[in-house]
Amino acid sequence: MLYIDEEKIEDLLADAKGTPAHKIDAVLNKAGSLKRLALDETAALLTVEDPRIIEKIFKAAAYVKNEIYGNRIVLFAPLYISNYCANRCVYCAFQSGNPEVKRKHLTADEIRAQTEWLLKRGHKRVLIVAGESGVPGKSAIDYYIEAVEAVYSARVGPHYIKRVNINCAPLSVEEFKRLKASHIGTYQLFQETYHEATYRKCHLKGPKSDPDNRLSAVDRAFTAGIDDVGIGPLYGLYDYSFETLAMMMHIEHLEKKFNVGPHTISVPRIEPAAGSEFSLNPPYKVADEDFKKLIAVIRLSVPYTGMILTTRETAEMRDEVINLGISQISAESKTSPGGYSDNEKWGGQFTTSDRRSLEEMIAMLIRKGHIPSFCAACYRRDRTGEKFMGLAKPGLIKGMCSVNALVTFKEYLDDFATPKLKEEGYGLIGKEVPKLDARSKEQVKKLFAAVDAGLRDEYV
Ligand code: SAM
Ligand code: SF4
Repeated sequence: MLYIDEEKIEDLLADAKGTPAHKIDAVLNKAGSLKRLALDETAALLTVEDPRIIEKIFKAAAYVKNEIYGNRIVLFAPLYISNYCANRCVYCAFQSGNPEVKRKHLTADEIRAQTEWLLKRGHKRVLIVAGESGVPGKSAIDYYIEAVEAVYSARVGPHYIKRVNINCAPLSVEEFKRLKASHIGTYQLFQETYHEATYRKCHLKGPKSDPDNRLSAVDRAFTAGIDDVGIGPLYGLYDYSFETLAMMMHIEHLEKKFNVGPHTISVPRIEPAAGSEFSLNPPYKVADEDFKKLIAVIRLSVPYTGMILTTRETAEMRDEVINLGISQISAESKTSPGGYSDNEKWGGQFTTSDRRSLEEMIAMLIRKGHIPSFCAACYRRDRTGEKFMGLAKPGLIKGMCSVNALVTFKEYLDDFATPKLKEEGYGLIGKEVPKLDARSKEQVKKLFAAVDAGLRDEYV
């Protein structure tokens, strides 16, 4: 596979086995100073098995997350627009030829209706998700652009979606340019597995069966000017240490070529999918303890990159790993097109585990002392790609994140929260504002006054 040296990865992992505790401490010290880790250092952390040392890795990850992003957690919802797909990925319900899935692609009006449903709940950030397919009379790219425009055009009173991200099939540079021009935030594409033989076994038909076309799609997105890109392996297809280290190799390639790494990393684990025997018993199912470790190791290896955790995970797991470096979570997700309003009449992609509502997620975040955030400021202030990294790397994004998190959270509380949640939310705000530096305090004061005066979508 392009850019991925499998032999080197295997060697690094073999050499890292049994790294002495003092060397692990040295790696953790380096990570604590917010420095990006080298491949052999990531390998050393991945091979740790001693629970006491793993505990140290967890502590370091929580520290780094807090130093870079502060204690805010950004919330979003996926919006599935189509379950038609030309590919045959063995783990996915949308694979072509799966008779168990009732197919549907949403029209622009239906996409707007789904968005309005989300807006009424208080959502402000949406991730569009689609199988690889156009719709009758329209190419895939035309359909994606129509969907992005439909989401942005939806209105419920003063509320609208502030940032549309998209997870869709690889495109050409020209098509990516058009996608960028539609004002997407992040383009997300998971390599699924960086192990070539496994990749070929799991992707049986269709354009996705070419691993290099998929890997190079991230390059094409950057070339087209999309500088916020999200990546990730699908955990369960192959050994988790290999996948994590290979992803680091992929990131090194991007950093070298484009001077910027991924904006976000996702850590999906395979969940049961209708019509997919494979998904019920994945060959490299990742145990919960290993899952927590790999999240913490990714956080330490690429400290400036956002990390996303979805409702594939259970409520208990999500509540726990939020402390290990996650910066974004989805809430109340449905994985079927139209799923928010039609009781999941059409086929879903996989079963979600955490079914809590947005309100319940927010209550949990408040209880745990995290600031729920609906911020989309960086992308709208042009703080993307290298500019974002320039702020994130030295820990300078944190001040802005905290101010914007508090303001967007206050807007949510004032517009959507029950009296009880409002009281709890204001309690958290009361504890968080005094922790800010003088400049941030001043900014919050000004923006809170604007929100009280009825203005919305305030940010720095
Ligand atoms: N069709 C496009 C593609 O595959 O890139 C984009 C959307 S696809 C619906 C989004 C992601 O869902 C895939 O990249 C894959 O990692 C993930 N996925 C597929 N089946 C899954 C399953 N059974 N459990 C968890 N995640 C799954
Ligand atoms: Fe299609 Fe994506 Fe599912 Fe593969 S993972 S079958 S490409 S929707």
